[in-house]
Amino acid sequence: LSLVKSLVSDAADIKNSTQHFTEQLSHAQSEIDQLKMQLKKSEHEMHFDALTGVLNRRAFNKDIKGLVEQNPQGLCLIITDIDHFKLFNDTYGHQLGDQVLKAVAKRLGENNQTGIKLYRFGGEEFALLVPQSQLARARHLAESMRRSLEKLVLKDKRKEQRVDNIRASFGVAQYQDKDTDSTLIERADKQLYEAKRLGRNRVMPIT
Ligand code: GH3
Ligand code: MG
Ligand code: MG
Repeated sequence: LSLVKSLVSDAADIKNSTQHFTEQLSHAQSEIDQLKMQLKKSEHEMHFDALTGVLNRRAFNKDIKGLVEQNPQGLCLIITDIDHFKLFNDTYGHQLGDQVLKAVAKRLGENNQTGIKLYRFGGEEFALLVPQSQLARARHLAESMRRSLEKLVLKDKRKEQRVDNIRASFGVAQYQDKDTDSTLIERADKQLYEAKRLGRNRVMPIT
């Protein structure tokens, strides 16, 4: 009889510990699920700009390096910088300045062909990587973006303000033999500087 008793009590112990183990397992599983979600979120945050939602400088650095190494033929880079942006902040305040940046990013990201990626390059600067293209085509794209930004109108209902004088300058460069990511960036940047120097609100080079 004592053997039976002991077997019954062993069985009860096993049942208890199995139940305990199952609970622990499902607890561990939900912890894993949560960590997976957090990882996904941090990966997204690592590559995207919090204000505008477009890809960030870190993603740009990674992508331009990859393209120059693996698919450089016809690669074009457009860098754009909003004209006199400091004036927006000074006139309307930093918050409306942020809204302008958001609207500009949204507009620059619209209607782009597949493969073209938009990045926030710096404060009020954006970059576009245009793979397998030609300088003339990239310039054309930049020109249509420039004109599209000119038409942008922002309304701040609360303060009854209206912002509609958004202008930007563009520098464009195409990959050449022996270019590295930094020499390509340098050339686009130089063209942007030229666009500023010649009076802003334009795309360089002209041809
Ligand atoms: P330029 O035509 O020569 O480019 O003149 P600019 O005023 O645009 O250039 P500048 O470099 O003097 O000023 C850039 C301004 O952009 C200064 C900075 O406060 C503002 N800025 C940068 N990042 C942000 C941001 O995230 N939000 C807001 N609101 N302003 C920003
Ligand atoms: Mg700037
Ligand atoms: Mg600027």
